[in-house]
Amino acid sequence: MKIAVIGGGPGGYVAAIRAAQLGADVTLVEKEHLGGTCLNIGCIPTKCLLHSAELVEDIKNQGADIGVKVTGVEIDFPQVIAHKNAISQKLTGGVAALLKMNKVKKIDGEARFVGPRKMKITKPDGSTEDLAADKIILATGSVNATPPIPGLKENPNCIDSTGALSLEALPKSMVVIGAGVIGLELACAYAAFGTKITVVEALDHMLPMLDGDLTKIGVAHMKKMGMDFHLECPVQSVEPSPVGAKVVCKDKSGQTISFEAEKVLVAVGRRANTASLNLEAGGIKNDRGRIIVTDRMETNVSGVYAIGDCVLGKAQLAHTASAMGEVAAENIMGMDVLYDESTNPTCVYIEPEAASVGLTEEQCKAKGIEYKVGKFPMSANGKALIINGGEGLVKIIAGKKYGEVLGMHIIGPRATDLIAEGALAIRLEATLDELISTIHSHPTVTETMREAALNAEKRAIHTKN
Ligand code: NAD
Repeated sequence: MKIAVIGGGPGGYVAAIRAAQLGADVTLVEKEHLGGTCLNIGCIPTKCLLHSAELVEDIKNQGADIGVKVTGVEIDFPQVIAHKNAISQKLTGGVAALLKMNKVKKIDGEARFVGPRKMKITKPDGSTEDLAADKIILATGSVNATPPIPGLKENPNCIDSTGALSLEALPKSMVVIGAGVIGLELACAYAAFGTKITVVEALDHMLPMLDGDLTKIGVAHMKKMGMDFHLECPVQSVEPSPVGAKVVCKDKSGQTISFEAEKVLVAVGRRANTASLNLEAGGIKNDRGRIIVTDRMETNVSGVYAIGDCVLGKAQLAHTASAMGEVAAENIMGMDVLYDESTNPTCVYIEPEAASVGLTEEQCKAKGIEYKVGKFPMSANGKALIINGGEGLVKIIAGKKYGEVLGMHIIGPRATDLIAEGALAIRLEATLDELISTIHSHPTVTETMREAALNAEKRAIHTKN
């Protein structure tokens, strides 16, 4: 079986390796870098900046209290960027080695449809080659969306997340358009580095994917870091300014309000990166470029699959893409697997970290599911108290009758690692009782998960029930 994978991000390279493991003859076509957005200009680079940010915040906020006095803490911004580049390079090199180890062939070039199930590759030297494949997996990811805001495109100080990850100097001020994940994660990093951050958001709330209790704690922390938030404040235009750029908005009361800053980060969402695929020639159904797939990850054209950020209606997350990639590869190789989103966690690397899996209370109500809730504050957990002073919360949602875990929502230290327990609980249809009868090690932040389960049963030991 000859399989061609178009795109070498966390969707594509994982699909390629899985297909090769199952005995396929796999070719991966990539027009830019292996590792895609995630390793080069997305998740990993952002987390590098955030790690530098966390260290400097910890020293500033906690150092003296915990007996670590450091004078003259400063950000060497070019070194922050250099470190980020080194980590990206290490990881993308690792992907190349893994592909080689699995005997996946790699072609540098851009693939586009010239007919149903027929693709042509244009190589960097301009030459073209027909793609020989029995099955195709499209994994071309997404790109930053550029909103049609007058004056934005023309202003070189308006940057997107890619620009914000490769600045040469630390800006003194930054307006962030969009209080979504990208905007707030980068805002946290730059605020910790000392940049004055102003966030403007069109809606009346931020981070809609998180439980409201979590967002409240996150926003309070970000305000403490010195960030200003303006909700219900859609951007109308961007004007030139001697400082850098002037962002003109309409506030809640309909008044014009403007914010000037050295840089403006535009973070209003991402769109499918499928323009160059010529989907129409391939007969591939899509909605404004986002490819329509079944739960087997197959498009309307049999034998052509699509995974990751370029598909319609699923989370645009690296681990989602990888999971879909394995599903596509396995189905092509004769297995019968469905992509199941019920254990897909959302992780938001704001300060403190937040993560969520399964249903929220709002979703339970909307679905008419009877549920119970258990909560446990990080302030009552020894390890969390040591790490960040005990800021945060765990909230568990379980079925009222049987106590099966329906959702887990965490903000606090290590939240993005802890969430794996919630995802596994959902996968195993574990109940509160099973979480409770599992001994959790002490002292760890994992104890908060068990205590939240205990609280749902009105038997928490370390908090009021
Ligand atoms: P988003 O959709 O999460 O947020 C964009 C925000 O911009 C929205 O709140 C929207 O209301 C606002 N907005 C749009 N137009 C505006 C305007 N004119 N004025 C003011 N506000 C405006 O998009 P994002 O943050 O760009 O992220 C894109 C994708 O990348 C998401 O799907 C996200 O899941 C993914 N991502 C995930 C992670 C992670 O998992 N940690 C990190 C980064 C990105």
